[in-house]
Amino acid sequence: MKTILVSFIAIVTLAWGVEMLSPDHTTASSLPWTIYLESLFLTGLISIALMSLAMVLASRPAWLEQPLGGMDRIYRLHKWSGILAVVFAASHWLLEMSDDLFKALAGRGGRIKEDELSAFAEPLRDMGEALGEWAFYVLLALLALTLWKRFSYRLWRPLHRAMPVLYLLLAFHSVVLAPAGYWSQPVGLLLALLFTAGSIASVLSLRGLIGRKRRASGSVVAVHNPGNDIIEVSCRLDGKWRGHHPGQFAFVTFDEAEGAHPFTIASADRGDRTVTFAIKALGDYTRRLPHQLSVGNPVKVEGPYGRFDISRVNKRARQVWVAGGIGITPFLAWLEALQDEPAAGLAADLHYSVRDAGTDPFVERLQSLCAALPEVRLHVHDEQGEPLTAEALAEQQQGRKPLEVWFCGPSGFADALREGLQAVTGRIRFHQEAFEMR
Ligand SMILES: Cc1cc2nc3c(=O)[nH]c(=O)nc-3n(C[C@H](O)[C@H](O)[C@H](O)COP(=O)(O)OP(=O)(O)OC[C@H]3O[C@@H](n4cnc5c(N)ncnc54)[C@H](O)[C@@H]3O)c2cc1C
Repeated sequence: MKTILVSFIAIVTLAWGVEMLSPDHTTASSLPWTIYLESLFLTGLISIALMSLAMVLASRPAWLEQPLGGMDRIYRLHKWSGILAVVFAASHWLLEMSDDLFKALAGRGGRIKEDELSAFAEPLRDMGEALGEWAFYVLLALLALTLWKRFSYRLWRPLHRAMPVLYLLLAFHSVVLAPAGYWSQPVGLLLALLFTAGSIASVLSLRGLIGRKRRASGSVVAVHNPGNDIIEVSCRLDGKWRGHHPGQFAFVTFDEAEGAHPFTIASADRGDRTVTFAIKALGDYTRRLPHQLSVGNPVKVEGPYGRFDISRVNKRARQVWVAGGIGITPFLAWLEALQDEPAAGLAADLHYSVRDAGTDPFVERLQSLCAALPEVRLHVHDEQGEPLTAEALAEQQQGRKPLEVWFCGPSGFADALREGLQAVTGRIRFHQEAFEMR
């Protein structure tokens, strides 16, 4: 993700640099003013470019799942491009606010006036400035709420939906205040592409069209309560459902007022358009769900998404599959799929880490699924026994084959295992499904 963001910023900076060096570039006649103005433009340019990227990624572009590694990663990239966009917007705003201080320090001589730069008339520029400033304040407040994890997701979500409006305002600000010289240079072409893509994504979002082509309707056909604050819900979907790969997830709407929540499809695809979700009470909504759901409840399922797919495992590598708590759901789908279609040459160690194996609702099912698959060895870890650590895993995994880990569970646990295994065994391939998007 870092590489993508750094490369993206580098491309935008390069395009800005090409314009800077062009013979038509309008520049201030004093060096301090040139540095000031170019810093103002560059920070603004990078900020709006990152915001455009964040908008495009928020439109759930399934075609980017393969190059970017799955929808959970797309959302992480969306989150970090949004955060960085606000950081650059804050630098841009600080520079703009220090205009008077700069005049006092560097003097007014050698400065360049805005009407010599922008291609737009003064009333439009004034409107662009005012809108940009207010949109930035709202953006800053929304970022603070996004990072403040205790702020309820239920309240955050409708606020976050204002983002496309803010984006369109900031794009307008950028268009009317960008130097006229940009539009005949590569930087202008890049901006035009980004604004077009960002604006299309914004309109799709405002009109509720994101993911529409992947949305199927159906109804709940079974609800079970196996214990430990978990419910299992099976849904039968209409002909719009195209099936799924074991390990993929979907955005599920049981209640229109609540909206969609992402859940992994915990069952294999049997071609009957039935999908099962195992849902743990991890927050307000998922705690209420067992009291609200019953057979016959209408449901909308958008998906499938994700690349936590058993067909992607490297059979030549030593396979270690690790699930923490409800992170077992993609592996349930994998194991079910293997019952129907065993994968020749695939051997794996499945480690399931839970609080209490004695009361856990999935241990028995996993034992019975693995009993039919001698090549998948099940290891259950709980607080009464030995905890699962990178060192213990590395000890079990002696041999020359490269190590491939598929992990689904809490991110702190993933970080500890990844870093520990890298330190002990060197290079490993570590695939992780993040159950967090905000
Ligand atoms: C790819 C993926 C697969 C998942 N699979 C499962 C699964 O199989 N079983 C399971 O029990 N849980 C799964 N989760 C987690 C599940 O989505 C959250 O626990 C649930 O949405 C919490 O909702 P809440 O309102 O009860 O909790 P809250 O306390 O309101 O939310 C807790 C956190 O859940 C996330 N969240 C909540 N609502 C949404 C939403 N509408 N869209 C995106 N994120 C949201 C946010 O990060 C939020 O901060 C998965 C999450 C992801 C991203």
